[in-house]
Amino acid sequence: MITDIKGLHHVTSMAGDAAENNRFFTDTLGLRRVKKTVNFDAPEVYHLYYGDEIGTPGSVMTYFPFGDMPRGQRGIGEVGVTEFAVPEGALGYWKDRLAASGVTGLAEDSFLGETRLEFAGPDGDGFALVESADRGRTAWTGGGVPEDAGILGFHGARMRLRDEAATAELLTFMGYTKDETDGDVTRYRIEGGNAADTIDLEAVSGGKAAAQGAGSVHHIAFAVEDRAAQLRVREALVDTGYQVTPVIDRDYFWAIYFRTPGGVLFEIATNEPGFDRDEDTAHLGQALKLPSRYEPYRDRIETHLPPLGA
Ligand code: ZN
Repeated sequence: MITDIKGLHHVTSMAGDAAENNRFFTDTLGLRRVKKTVNFDAPEVYHLYYGDEIGTPGSVMTYFPFGDMPRGQRGIGEVGVTEFAVPEGALGYWKDRLAASGVTGLAEDSFLGETRLEFAGPDGDGFALVESADRGRTAWTGGGVPEDAGILGFHGARMRLRDEAATAELLTFMGYTKDETDGDVTRYRIEGGNAADTIDLEAVSGGKAAAQGAGSVHHIAFAVEDRAAQLRVREALVDTGYQVTPVIDRDYFWAIYFRTPGGVLFEIATNEPGFDRDEDTAHLGQALKLPSRYEPYRDRIETHLPPLGA
């Protein structure tokens, strides 16, 4: 069994309009943009990273805004809800703030004793704010949300699956333990993790498969401390029969990817080196950063990327 996984590292989704995406995450949700770079496989598209002050693993929501990409269709075989943790008592603040910003899909709910507020992102993305203990995490206050309400990082993610048994087995192999069940949803939790430590599996018997597009989660990444831990995880997955990519340098972390039995793409990402490797903490996310192989094309890339606003 794998013992190196610490919880979520980042969640990466696809978006339509880049400026709208940037405004939603920095203004409406009050996260900090911690990196402005491009999709390393498609440099005409941004890769935008939003998180806490330094982009702590477990707090980082990232986007590829493809411009005119059609919306995805929510369904089976995807991450249906990405959950952010907020301090206890903060949901009243958020209900008012999100309603005043015209956010749709607002619905209060409770699940396994937690109060949650579901809402839709700008492309119909499925999100929830969950009241949680801070567990040593601090919200970024530079985005206009007060500290006693601000997003602390991820709480977890909920996957919608037709047959959750194989994914449950995989999560267990990855170090998660089965927690409580509420209706069709079973919670898996990792002990000693980074607080972004739950994965909920929702068993869905009928309905259509998800179709990826704007607003869909592209993949979820799990955190490991360093490259040695990543190699241990890779070896364990390969030995179990998973097809895992080689280690890929993403400049701010190293990544490996594999497709899970339920259809969701998983990544294992290192906590090292972090988002301050090429700009200081005070200026994170402001300048366009390019991987070195694209630096010769900076002028052309900058000309074609849409303006983001602030
Ligand atoms: Zn990723």
